[in-house]
Amino acid sequence: MVARTAAERQSLPQNLPPDWRRQLRASAISPDQLLQRLKLPARLLDEINTGHRLFALRVPEAFIRKMRIADPADPLLRQVLPLSAEALPAPDFIDDPVGDLSSRAAPGILHKYHGRVLLLVTGACAVNCRYCFRRNFPYSEQQLKPADWQHSLAYLRRNTDISEVIFSGGDPLLLSTARLAALTRDLSNIAHLRRLRIHTRLPVMIPDRVTPQLCAWLAELPWPVCMVLHINHPAEIDASLQQACRRLQDVGVNLLNQSVLLQGVNDNAEIQTVLSEKLYSVGVLQYYLHQLDPVTGARHFAVADQRALEIHRQMRAKLPGYLLPRLVREIPGKAAKTPLSEAMD
Ligand SMILES: *Cc1c(COP(=O)(O)O)cnc(C)c1O
Ligand code: SF4
Repeated sequence: MVARTAAERQSLPQNLPPDWRRQLRASAISPDQLLQRLKLPARLLDEINTGHRLFALRVPEAFIRKMRIADPADPLLRQVLPLSAEALPAPDFIDDPVGDLSSRAAPGILHKYHGRVLLLVTGACAVNCRYCFRRNFPYSEQQLKPADWQHSLAYLRRNTDISEVIFSGGDPLLLSTARLAALTRDLSNIAHLRRLRIHTRLPVMIPDRVTPQLCAWLAELPWPVCMVLHINHPAEIDASLQQACRRLQDVGVNLLNQSVLLQGVNDNAEIQTVLSEKLYSVGVLQYYLHQLDPVTGARHFAVADQRALEIHRQMRAKLPGYLLPRLVREIPGKAAKTPLSEAMD
């Protein structure tokens, strides 16, 4: 695919869908197509299909392009490759490990922590990460529906101690820019809101989503805007991501990142140290390193707490304090994400 300049893109006929939407549709790739695309051994097909039936394979081409060819152990591939291990029984791994279903405060709103709420603006994602704690979550029922929006707004208006709205999902940047702008237009009438945050993996998965229109919307918002990306491995950071980050920084967006500690992907101090430094080289601060949420089907990604703490200790010995992420675990019922050192008995 040939990259287009912004000027060329704007000269496209108006009735053509934006290129990122075409890339999004193409992300529903079949296991067979993925094997061929990456020249992986055909004997993997049965295995992949077993996981695929539990939670469909989905990955955009822009992410596949960052993977090594013919390497089933590639750390980017492992994040998205369905495996038969997902079907193994694991009693301590459950469907709603972070207690989301009980913190629903209003339609599409999760209110767990003081002063900030998650707004589930869509249930859809451009990618299906195999370890996602939402893989078994009934998201189509939780996401904000246009018909309920006035009720959700009323909740935000009524609770004057809410100062930050976090667009989450799913991936909020899958909404059209016009729809995002309609949401923030309504939110801008609520005087006690002071910050907007956007949790998204799209600049990593489909960097073309960071369009001039999206940047124009971000530039006009009445609050400081923070975008929290989700990058787990240094190989995800390439020129296309760097350019997307640059476009966002140019309109004043603060960029943070959160990662999940994943066995066979990024479970050593060397990779984590390089990740934090490489993120900073493109202007992104590493915010959280999460211990895996124990969700059904993700047992094979788990890293023992002692090992996680050891990795974090080694990172602390090498990195300046501002490049050291907070190592946390989400414990249902707690007032914030819990530092792992406090989460262990
Ligand atoms: C993680 C999370 C937040 C954000 O927490 P921060 O510590 O501010 O990043 C907010 N609401 C919910 C429900 C969350 O899970
Ligand atoms: S991008 Fe985030 S929400 Fe979407 S599948 Fe991956 S981990 Fe889950």
